[in-house]
Amino acid sequence: MKNEVREQIERLREEIRRHDRLYYIENSPKITDREYDAFLKKLEKLEKDNPGSITPDSPTQRVAGAPVGGFAVVEHKARMLSMDNTYNHDELREFDARVKKNLGGEKYEYVVELKIDGVSVALTYENGNFVRGATRGDGLKGDDITVNLKTIRSIPLVLEPQKGIEFPKFMEVRGEVYMRHKSFEKINKDKEKAGEELFANPRNAAAGSLKLLDPRTVAKRGLDIFIHSFGYAEGAHFDSQYELLERLKALGFRVNTNYKKCGDIGEALKFCDTWEKKREELEYDIDGMVVKVDSFAQQRKLGETSKSPRWMIAYKYPAERVETKLLDIKVQVGRTGVLTPVAVFELVPELAGTTVSSASLHNWDEIKRKDVRIGDMVIIEKAGEIIPQVVEVVKSKRTGKEKKFGIPKICPICKKPAKREEGEVAFRCENVFCPAQLKENLIHFASRSAMDIEGLGEAMVDQLVDKKLVKDYADIYYLKFDQLLTLDRMGDRSAQNLMVAIENSKSNRLNRLIFALGIRHVGEHIADVLAKRFHSIDKLSQQALDDLTGVQEVGPVVAESIRDFFSNPVSKKVLERLAKAGVKMEEETPFGASSKLAGKSFVFTGELNGFSRTDAEQLVRDLGGTASSSVGKKTDFVVAGENPGSKYEKAKKLGVKIIDEKEFGIIVNPNQPGRRG
Ligand SMILES: [Zn+2]
Repeated sequence: MKNEVREQIERLREEIRRHDRLYYIENSPKITDREYDAFLKKLEKLEKDNPGSITPDSPTQRVAGAPVGGFAVVEHKARMLSMDNTYNHDELREFDARVKKNLGGEKYEYVVELKIDGVSVALTYENGNFVRGATRGDGLKGDDITVNLKTIRSIPLVLEPQKGIEFPKFMEVRGEVYMRHKSFEKINKDKEKAGEELFANPRNAAAGSLKLLDPRTVAKRGLDIFIHSFGYAEGAHFDSQYELLERLKALGFRVNTNYKKCGDIGEALKFCDTWEKKREELEYDIDGMVVKVDSFAQQRKLGETSKSPRWMIAYKYPAERVETKLLDIKVQVGRTGVLTPVAVFELVPELAGTTVSSASLHNWDEIKRKDVRIGDMVIIEKAGEIIPQVVEVVKSKRTGKEKKFGIPKICPICKKPAKREEGEVAFRCENVFCPAQLKENLIHFASRSAMDIEGLGEAMVDQLVDKKLVKDYADIYYLKFDQLLTLDRMGDRSAQNLMVAIENSKSNRLNRLIFALGIRHVGEHIADVLAKRFHSIDKLSQQALDDLTGVQEVGPVVAESIRDFFSNPVSKKVLERLAKAGVKMEEETPFGASSKLAGKSFVFTGELNGFSRTDAEQLVRDLGGTASSSVGKKTDFVVAGENPGSKYEKAKKLGVKIIDEKEFGIIVNPNQPGRRG
């Protein structure tokens, strides 16, 4: 490569970095997006023509083409602690009293920052180059998500020395990856179109995006980051949090500038209150403020508990509540025919980061209890990450024109009578041919924990039912390629993929099929129990009530529900057609006797070589044991693979027996010492 070309490449890179910085960090772009793209294209071409010239820090490498195959685990150099929470002024003052006492009369100050509702990450820089990014994980170890973090434009790939500021040779900075409301809404809109499950809130969307295996998809998610602290910095000397934030900014990191140094807790509280009101103006979510003792010397003096630092605390805001007008109450029909009331109200922009126009009213009794009427002003609250709830009615604002809402007498979809069973709060549509129920049934049937048919989500089911291509779930297996092509947004390739997914689901395990049938009260666990006990749909369908109640964990209500399902002529016909289509209706118990591990509980940690985690857990269940995700005193075995996590430590502490993969292999199958010897 000629020197001239090399220089040109270097100049272009510097130019692009400068504009990245102006755009993403300083918020003052000097060129248009088009001009920026032109620079990038030019650089891409030069690098392509001179293959030896590409370096990992080049701006063209933000999306390094190839998808990664899972995430490696990395150990954090310094533990990533979590934070204690306070929820009101008194609790925050108590925190201040502890700080005061522990500092024994020294003067101290606080720095108060916004608590971004995102995903905590650690970024490692060596000699100014971004080399590694990881999630917090359990605080000791996290996932290596470097490739995905590189797609975030505001993360500098190289640090540029500025005005005499030197950067530490090795350092790890920490921050919060988040998603703006706008990006969040766009993604959910796209997901809705594709019939996929929506993200509950921007934080979940950010976390989900960081876990994607294809960085090209991550790049489209519009993630961003705020850096707020460091894990370690070799050879660097900062005296305080305030100084650190200023320095991070100068180094080219994106720092949220809404922080403030506060002389005492009173001032800190005032600042927290100010932001509680102002948070709505932000284009991203915060769930509170973070209050930190400013001086690093004092931070060290205060130290930390096993869980969290003593010099820092979160001041959490209460769930957001808004007042709005209830326009209507609609009736939704669920999978089992349950009619649920849904409140429709005037659009509330950005309640906890999402635009909402409907809320759950739980059930009909609640409408009565709260005396909710159409036209009422109501208070809605978004608690956690679920659908907003109507908390109360503002009765003082009633005009007299509000309308009471009667209990539905008919199903809004099929217009057949709705009934309330004795002892139940719910009203149901009892028409087995009700299209609303059919749709919900199909969505359940194809869902991940049931038959796991990818591509058969809500939007697809809507179309299939509306076009009368599917009248029950057996019909799925008789769909033709050409029929799929008549659907909206369905090309050759996606139709092909769907056909393959449907075909593959035929050989699913029996417990999945039993769960997929949607028998009332038969959840994933009971389905598993039934599959193990009866080994086939045929046998299960022939059991008398007594035989069913004789099965451990199957009570009279469940048994009756199973009987009802199999004695229904409609179900019988559907099952026959499923079998005819080639869906696997029976299954031998693997490894003979199925109760060998009865009463034994297993917890897995670390990576196994011979099994996937899911397979190993299924194996334990197949043999009558239970597989749990957390270690407790009642755990019998902890199976430790490579790089075991915190569960390993906990097992040691509790004295739980720890075995390796080989020993596990011997326990589950003594004739075969491990699957790979
Ligand atoms: Zn109906």
